[in-house]
Amino acid sequence: MRSMPAVLVVEDEPAIAELVAVNLRHNGFRTTWAMDSASAQREIDAGVPDLILLDWMLPGDSGMVLAKRWRAHPRTKDVPIIMLTARGDESDRVAGLDAGADDYIAKPFSTKELLARVRAVLRRKAPEPVGESVTVGQLTLDPATHRVSFANQPLKLGPTEFKLLHFMMNSAERVHSRAQLLDKVWGDHVYIEERTVDVHVKRLREAMLQAGCMVETVRGAGYRLTSKPENGIPAAEKAGA
Ligand code: CA
Repeated sequence: MRSMPAVLVVEDEPAIAELVAVNLRHNGFRTTWAMDSASAQREIDAGVPDLILLDWMLPGDSGMVLAKRWRAHPRTKDVPIIMLTARGDESDRVAGLDAGADDYIAKPFSTKELLARVRAVLRRKAPEPVGESVTVGQLTLDPATHRVSFANQPLKLGPTEFKLLHFMMNSAERVHSRAQLLDKVWGDHVYIEERTVDVHVKRLREAMLQAGCMVETVRGAGYRLTSKPENGIPAAEKAGA
C-alpha cells in the first residue's frame, strides 16, 4: 500500500493550482501539476496517479474531453477524477459526471471541502474488506475478485457502480431512497447531490446490459434491485444459464 497518494492537478490557473497543491502536500499527498491537456497527457504517460483533479476549462482539449479519453483508456479507466468547474449550472455538472468524472467541485471552493472530497473519492476507490460473493437471480458479484457476471457473462462496471450494485445486491428486493444510497455507498460524502445517484444508476444499468432492468426505479421512493423485474430479462432466459 502506498502511504502517499499521488494527485495530478490539471489546472491552467497557477494561483489555483498552487493553492491546491500546497494544501494537498500539507495533508500527505504527492502532487504533480500540469497546466494544459498536452502536459497532463505526458504526466499520465509517465506514471498513472491515484487521483486526478481536472479543471473543466483548459487550453487545448477541455477537461470533459480528457475525462472521456482517460475513462476509455485501459491504463486510466479506474483512476478517480474530480472535475474542477467554474460552472454553476447543474446540467453542466451532470455532463461532467456523464463524461466519467467521479465527482466535481464548483469554484470557488474551500480547501477543506477539496480535501474532504479527495479523501472521500479515494476511500470509495480503496479496496474494501473482502466480503462473500453474492448472487441475485443470474447476477453474481464477487468482491474478492471484483468480478460481476450475468448468466455467466462478465460485466464491466466502474468503481462507484460496483459499490452501488454490491450494496443493492446485499439488500435485494428492498427499496432504497437516494439519500440512503448516498449514505451507504458514498459514505460521509455530504456535499454530493441526490441527482448524482441517478447518474450512477443510469451508468450501472447501461453496464449491466440486458440485466439492467433488474435495477428498478420505484416512483417517489428510490431504487431497488430485483431478481424479478417487471418486464423480465429476455436475453438471459434465452441464454438458459
Ligand atoms: Ca481553467
